[in-house]
Amino acid sequence: MNLIIGNESLPPTRIFCIGRNYIKHAKELNNEIPSRPVIFMKPFTSLVPVGNEIQFPKHGKDLHYESEIVILIGREGYAKSIEESDKFIKGLSLGLDLTLRDVQKELKQKGLPWEISKSFEQSAAIGKFVQFSPEIDLENIEFRCFVNGELRQTGNSQNMIFPIKKLIFEISKIWKLLPGDLIYTGTPEGVGSLKKGDKIKIRSKLTGSFSWISK
Ligand code: ZN
Repeated sequence: MNLIIGNESLPPTRIFCIGRNYIKHAKELNNEIPSRPVIFMKPFTSLVPVGNEIQFPKHGKDLHYESEIVILIGREGYAKSIEESDKFIKGLSLGLDLTLRDVQKELKQKGLPWEISKSFEQSAAIGKFVQFSPEIDLENIEFRCFVNGELRQTGNSQNMIFPIKKLIFEISKIWKLLPGDLIYTGTPEGVGSLKKGDKIKIRSKLTGSFSWISK
């Protein structure tokens, strides 16, 4: 699939995800507050565009939604400072970092990598992108997540432990940023289980609303 932004469509490159970026969410899963960003990755083949169904994976039982602000990178290179790191942003959207919580719990207990709980097929639902412009206040983006019409999560980027520009800067200390890279910026509190047939909707004023059905 390609990422849609305005009239353009862009092939996805990599998906960086941030864990534990909101204090209340870290606490609800009994995790420590991190002193540097917790970064993991999903393959771009795990993307689920709007209009597709979210397939339940077969290797776990407890599939959780995590609604998140997603950044689309539009430039190649390394961010030289936090202040300038927004120059790498091409677009903004919302997405779901789908997680097999039962599998992740076991992996965490054993100190093993998270991939099979986080990076399976269909694990990254993604909305459509709005063009980024410097007038957009990256530190005040509110978003909501509804399951079957019921409000489950309200998030605002002002509550991020590591703000968006800091995340871009930190990621680019390790990886050279590439056009088509995505950053799932972490989820606020209120994560929970999905069952087959649930309708998940995420929305913000900035991006509009996107929904998926789980199957
Ligand atoms: Zn997440």
